[in-house]
Amino acid sequence: MVHPDTELRYVNDSIGWGVFASRALPKGTIVWALDPLDQRFTAAQIATLPAHAQAALEKYSYIDARGRHILCWDHGRFFNHSCAANCLSLGYDFELAVRDIAAGEELTDDYGTLNPLAPFPCLCGAASCRGVVQPDDFARLGDRWNRRARDAFFLIPTVAQPLWNVLSERADIEAALADPNRVRPIHGHYHAPRPASVLVPR
Ligand SMILES: [Zn+2]
Repeated sequence: MVHPDTELRYVNDSIGWGVFASRALPKGTIVWALDPLDQRFTAAQIATLPAHAQAALEKYSYIDARGRHILCWDHGRFFNHSCAANCLSLGYDFELAVRDIAAGEELTDDYGTLNPLAPFPCLCGAASCRGVVQPDDFARLGDRWNRRARDAFFLIPTVAQPLWNVLSERADIEAALADPNRVRPIHGHYHAPRPASVLVPR
């Protein structure tokens, strides 16, 4: 479930739609949380789907640490990639703002954290754009992502959190806020790339 102070806006013909803040979202705000309405698909389930459904999954889902494709039921599936993402995750089923996000600004995450099946060219326009997002970006960037997300994590109790009751890991999060050694690193989301796509070629 996406933060209630967000909305879907059309970006342009090459990017399509994106998720934008309708109010300012301070650093540390939980902007998305996995919830029971989000659909989970295993590779075996995907193999039974018709081609158009597989194509939609390929475009709109992300891959979790167990290799499942997760399809968000709301506009969470329209988060776009940026190499300078303003939202990241730690080893939990939520994303948080890793810097202050202004009203009207697009929320972005880094698809390198979402286990892409294949490299794709990036046109995000960030000064730090790496040109191509790679399935193994975790190896090069995981520590940097982790530092940014950890920095924001400890602000969780200091800002409004309308998604708090959606979180399934509240006890673990509270324990980690009390003991920084218990914070789960972002590396927990990594799923090793597979040599061949589970999706049927079209
Ligand atoms: Zn980029």
